[in-house]
Amino acid sequence: LAAASSSPSSRRSPDLVVARAPRLAVFGGSFDPIHNGHLALGKAVVDAGYADEVLFVPARRPPHKQGRSLTDGNHRLEMVRQAIEPYPPFSVSDIELERSEGFSYTFDTLSVLRQVFPEHDLLFLMGMDSLRDLHGWHRAGELVQHFAFIVYPRPGVACPSLAELSDRFGARNARKLMAAVKADLPLFDYSATAVRQACAQGLAPTRFCPEVVCRYIETHRLYRS
Ligand code: ATP
Repeated sequence: LAAASSSPSSRRSPDLVVARAPRLAVFGGSFDPIHNGHLALGKAVVDAGYADEVLFVPARRPPHKQGRSLTDGNHRLEMVRQAIEPYPPFSVSDIELERSEGFSYTFDTLSVLRQVFPEHDLLFLMGMDSLRDLHGWHRAGELVQHFAFIVYPRPGVACPSLAELSDRFGARNARKLMAAVKADLPLFDYSATAVRQACAQGLAPTRFCPEVVCRYIETHRLYRS
């Protein structure tokens, strides 16, 4: 990124180019399965200039989604891999799936990824529903304090108030989270629940997922019941 012509550093040397660290949006989720909403919001975040790249991180067993057992991690990972192939700024990590046991905790994942990507600025990308639940996550306070966020608006999910967030995280962290809400981004009305429901009714989820994912679901007979 070329330094602004009025900045003190550019006045010192007209040839100086100030490079900023690439911003990597870490996009955690069940991705059971990945759907058009995930892809569209990742693309919108890059197009709007909030991040340079998006790293999809399928969760092994998200602690906040208990009650329903997730589809095998290898299937979810492979569907993400195939779905993101056309998008150069997107990549996928199996860091959480590789954990030998237990839950995937975002705090731990981001701490490791910070070491794996020392040249990048990391931003945790999540939807508004995740912001609403965030206070229940493992080491939530430290997570908010030590990491940066992008919060994506989601149809039908209201943004928590500053007062609510302050009660949960303290005033300073609440302001940080509020500033991370990107209310200017387009809304995408998709969910993995809708995909699974369509499949359970014997319908191909063509309205919700890219063709490669529909084909994968069909081949492996996923979400039939
Ligand atoms: P499910 O329907 O099974 O709860 P989901 O569609 O919410 O799944 P996840 O894999 O759980 O998908 O989502 C991963 C992340 O993406 C979460 O932070 C979630 O809030 C966000 N997300 C998913 N779909 C959307 C969407 N349409 N708009 C905004 N955020 C979304």
